[in-house]
Amino acid sequence: KLPLLSVEDLTVTFTTARGPVRAVDSLSFAVRRGRTLGIVGESGSGKSVTSLAVMGLHTGARVTGSVRLDGRELTGLPERELNRLRGRRMAMIFQDPLSALHPYYTVGEQIAEHHRVHFGSGRRAARKRAVGMLGEVGIPDPARRAGEYPHQFSGGMRQRVMIAMALACEPELLIADEPTTALDVTVQAQILELIARLQEQRGLAVVMITHDLGVVARVAHEVLVMYGGRAAEQAPVDALFAAPAHPYTRGLLDSLPRLDDGDDAPLRAIPGSPPSLLDPAPGCAFAPRCPRAAAAAPAERARCEGTRPELRAAEEHLVACHLSPHAAAHTRGGPR
Ligand code: SF4
Ligand code: MG
Repeated sequence: KLPLLSVEDLTVTFTTARGPVRAVDSLSFAVRRGRTLGIVGESGSGKSVTSLAVMGLHTGARVTGSVRLDGRELTGLPERELNRLRGRRMAMIFQDPLSALHPYYTVGEQIAEHHRVHFGSGRRAARKRAVGMLGEVGIPDPARRAGEYPHQFSGGMRQRVMIAMALACEPELLIADEPTTALDVTVQAQILELIARLQEQRGLAVVMITHDLGVVARVAHEVLVMYGGRAAEQAPVDALFAAPAHPYTRGLLDSLPRLDDGDDAPLRAIPGSPPSLLDPAPGCAFAPRCPRAAAAAPAERARCEGTRPELRAAEEHLVACHLSPHAAAHTRGGPR
């Protein structure tokens, strides 16, 4: 079966005063209906730029490669066509719903207007639809709350409003960029549950963008780990957590809080800082922070620093690492 979203060799380059910046480099992935792809990485890893490029929102950047929705090529489509597709077939939610909601219109009016624009429905039908959607995303007393303004909602309720608006036009693809990052843990869990429930009911394909592997563990079926604008590792969620193949994935896993850490244990961050995209090193972008390279023999380390690792298949993983044991096992034709 054809994936709903299929991205091949996506590259996004910005021109800056200090030179070109390749924010996304040769990324490929696919998402089927009813499935969630988690895209994980630090800020600056290219995950948000990827989502904007998929939506056709990449003002000023040069985009190459292919983005297909249900088999149809989106790159190069005129803005008018893209605009029609956004909302009707694909929708996006963000970390900060306030930036997407208008402060001077009630949430009911905004959802209704969105529905009217994309479906040409009459005012009454659109209004009814808005109240129905608010109820569906778990907002109590939706008929009354439809008449309230965004600032009258709590952070969690506001994210529900955003989701209601995104789903009002029955899109098939939902892109969620850090939708729970600003919320406390309990509300975060509720929003993730809501997205999972709506996905199941509607057979949505979801792209969940996050810096938090904990979020990925809860909602994703497949995972793409990005580093420095490139794919470091791609794998089904179980395989990724059971046996991370890339040292960066392992670092992210090690930095997850654990039950036995105790409440005030410090978070274990990966030492070092993200790579500069302006003047990328010739080798592996992770090399300066990589414990595996640091422990390797000089010749191997030289390869890490001098040659960019390509993405290779290894068991269920795709991994871009010269020294991945998975990849080594694969090259030798069997697991160790
Ligand atoms: Fe580390 Fe080398 Fe693998 Fe890059 S290629 S992740 S530097 S071991
Ligand atoms: Mg971001």
